[in-house]
Formats: sequence, C-alpha cells, structure tokens
Amino acid sequence: MGGCSSVHIGIFGFEPILHHGSEDLKKRYLPRVPTGELQISFAVTEPDAGIDTTNISTFARKVDGGWLVSGKKVWISNAHQAERMLLLARTTPKEECAKRTDGLTVFFAPMDREKVTIRSIPKMGRNSVDSNELFIDDLFVADEDVVGEVGKGFKVILTGLNAERVVAANAMLGIGEAALRRGTRYANERVVFGRPIGQNQGLAFQLAEAKIRLEAADAVLQKATWLVDQQQPCGAEANYAKWLCAEAGFYAADVALQVHGGMGYSKEYHVERYFREARLMRIAPISQEMVLNYVAEHVLGLPRSY
Ligand SMILES: Cc1cc2nc3c(=O)[nH]c(=O)nc-3n(C[C@H](O)[C@H](O)[C@H](O)COP(=O)(O)OP(=O)(O)OC[C@H]3O[C@@H](n4cnc5c(N)ncnc54)[C@H](O)[C@@H]3O)c2cc1C
Repeated sequence: MGGCSSVHIGIFGFEPILHHGSEDLKKRYLPRVPTGELQISFAVTEPDAGIDTTNISTFARKVDGGWLVSGKKVWISNAHQAERMLLLARTTPKEECAKRTDGLTVFFAPMDREKVTIRSIPKMGRNSVDSNELFIDDLFVADEDVVGEVGKGFKVILTGLNAERVVAANAMLGIGEAALRRGTRYANERVVFGRPIGQNQGLAFQLAEAKIRLEAADAVLQKATWLVDQQQPCGAEANYAKWLCAEAGFYAADVALQVHGGMGYSKEYHVERYFREARLMRIAPISQEMVLNYVAEHVLGLPRSY
C-alpha cells in the first residue's frame, strides 16, 4: 500500500485535465507526468465541510489575468512534494447559485510556498505519503490554469474518481492478501495445546472466510477495473468494489491479528501494520457510508439522505 499510495495520484489525479483541460494545459503539463517529474496534490477536503464537498468555503476571486484564492484545506496528500495541485474552490457564493453543485471551479494551481503554508498531520498509517493542512492566502492562479469551465468544477473534480476508487481498492486487497498469508503461516507454525492453532476450526474458519471475502471482492474489482479501462460509466461498480475490498481487506487484517495473539501487536510480525493500514481504507479515499449513500440514491432510487 505504501508503494501504491505514492504513485496513485499520478494515475487518477490527471483525469480532470485529460477530460476537461484545454489543449494548452495538456501540452504544458502532461508530458512530465509519466516520468514522475510532475508531482501534484488533489486539494478538495476542507475542515469545515468534510464529506459535504459543495459546502467548501475556499474562495477564488477574479482579478486581472487570473484568480486570487484564499482558504483552508485538510488531509491533502503529497503536498510537500507537489509542484501543483488540483484545487477546488468556490467562484460564486453558494447562496447565489441555483444548485449547490454550481459555482465551483477547479484550478491547476501552483503550490507556491510563499502563499500556501503546508503543515503535516501526524497519523495512524499510510506514512509513505504525507498528509497536510494547507493555509492558502491570496494565491494567484492564471486564467490558463483553470481546468474545464468556470463554475462547473464539481463535474470536473468527479472525473477520475472511479479510477481512484479502483486503484485504492487494489491496495486494500493487497493488504488483505498479505495479512492472510502471514496469518495462515503463523496458524501452521504456532503450536498450543499440542497442535498447530490452525487445526482448530475456530481459527481455520476465520482464515477461510477471509479468503472467500477477498476472492469475491476481487471478482467485483476486476469488473470495475475493466469498465474504468474501457472508459465506460461505472460509478456503481467502482463504489461496490471500493466497499467490498475495504471490508475484505480489513476483515483479513483483523483475523490475522487475532491469529497472532499477543504477537500481533509486535512489530516483528508486521500484522499490526497491516491492521492500521487496512482500517484507513474504510474512511478514505471515500468513506464506506458515502458509498452506501451513493448506492441507496443512485442505484436503488431511494431519496437522498445527506
Ligand atoms: C490519510 C488520508 C489521506 C487523504 N488524502 C486526501 C487528499 O489527498 N485530498 C483530499 O481532498 N482529501 C483527502 N483525504 C480526505 C478524505 O477524503 C476525508 O477525510 C474523508 O472523505 C472524510 O472526511 P472527514 O474526515 O472530514 O469526515 P467527516 O465529513 O467529518 O465525517 C465523519 C464521519 O461521519 C460520516 N458521515 C458524515 N455525514 C454522513 C452522512 N450524511 N451519512 C452517513 N455518514 C456520514 C463520514 O462517512 C465519516 O465516517 C484524506 C484523508 C485521509 C485520512
């Protein structure tokens, strides 16, 4: 997951530019993506809005030749390395918009250290990539660095989220599989009551169930990944895959910790590390609750609850 986390943004992060950016924007930035030279952040989440994205208050006001952006962001990955960020800001106050998704704009903004203060957040896992608070104070972004249409940024920022869910789901499965491998090995090796602990169905069944959950999640993930690759609409499938992989990965890490008994807490066996990493995936990149909200509303046709 450490490896995945550090390259994921280079996979899904540029989708808004690919699908909505001007030819000029693509020419200026995209050639430096495959080489890994151009590092970016995805700056959407805000402390006072949380998962209620349309409630963000970072504001961009029009000036000659561009925009001046001010506001606060939180949990922004990779900011210390980033040269640019895909930044979502309000360009029209919410009260003046017909719909709450209107009046938002995406900027491919410079991570100008004179105008953006970056503060790292100490956290439980995923420490291969930094997570940060950003304090943005009159950051200038040129007109030519607007991605897509001004005021239509909500649609722009959603592009690439299916790819994000799918790549994150792969990392979740990977953790689950690694945890299961370790759990199974330990269950074969550790002898208590004169026999390997894995000979007890109480433990063997948990490990077997973890395997079944991972396989089932993988099947759904393969389908979602194929649809993303074919550039077909797959909001539902990408969300199913994210939810299932997060649950399966976490279940496997939890079982592995249980099988290891007290040793699961020791650094030597790495299981506590898998557990910490797997837990995050039920919260980010999107919480399990928001996946369920999506399915309830968009797949089942239930009234919107949030
Ligand atoms: C390690 C890490 C890296 C991240 N990287 C980035 C990044 O690079 N860029 C970025 O923009 N963001 C990033 N995020 C932010 C992440 O997407 C959000 O933390 C996440 O979406 C939850 O937002 P929040 O923490 O403000 O939770 P809140 O909005 O405060 O919600 C708290 C809890 O309540 C639940 N909840 C709230 N309202 C409802 C409702 N109506 N129905 C059901 N449940 C509800 C949520 O699901 C959540 O579990 C990252 C987060 C983490 C932890």
